Amino acid sequence: MPNMIPVITIDGPSGTGKGTISQMLAKQLGWHYLDSGALYRVLAWTAIEQQVSFDQDEQLVILAQQLTVEFSVNNGIESQIKCGLTDVTAAIRTPEVTQASSIISAKPLVRQALLERQRAFRQASGLVTDGRDMGTVIFPDAPLKLFMTADPDERARRRYNELKSKGIDVNLPTVLDALNKRDTRDEERATAPLKPAVDAILIDTTALNIEETFQLVMQKVRDQHLI
Ligand code: C5P
Repeated sequence: MPNMIPVITIDGPSGTGKGTISQMLAKQLGWHYLDSGALYRVLAWTAIEQQVSFDQDEQLVILAQQLTVEFSVNNGIESQIKCGLTDVTAAIRTPEVTQASSIISAKPLVRQALLERQRAFRQASGLVTDGRDMGTVIFPDAPLKLFMTADPDERARRRYNELKSKGIDVNLPTVLDALNKRDTRDEERATAPLKPAVDAILIDTTALNIEETFQLVMQKVRDQHLI
């Protein structure tokens, strides 16, 4: 039986605005929101905390299976992420955890261990989901799939501003280098690489601000008769 609960998948590399747009869209539609990248980040943070090295695949899978992640949404914005009793909202956004999440997410068994957990977010009235493989692997039957892109320099600039605003001390060349490394790793991995689904609509946000991007996305939602 096909799942009748609608899903809108938004995939793409970091710095395209997809996190912000996904949350705005979920709020506008009154749907649930899945930040799939946060799951990989919380897992990476846990591995570092528990001193599990990134080549211990079996241990990583156990951690993934046992992971307790709780998302709080306040006025449509993801306001807090907890792992067990610990507030990890800021800790999972550091450059170290960011690179670590990309390393462990390349492992097929880790991805497998988080698969059903992600599908469980599909609940009435609908789900907006943000990630790398949402349209290709996790929700291949989604009625609307978007793939956001933007020039690497522009994405690095956005990411730099985002980290700065969170009080993380970084410089632009380092951010660009880390972003390129992560993109390459995410695109070249064998399992669930970062790529648009064949039926995804591509949206280049290089020259668009958030409001313009959101209006474009809302048009796609209407075109698809999801509202
Ligand atoms: O989206 P975000 O930057 O939080 O994701 C962190 C990392 O988690 C990505 O660089 C990617 O390696 C991994 N990821 C993934 N599949 C997803 C979401 C994120 O492999 N669906």
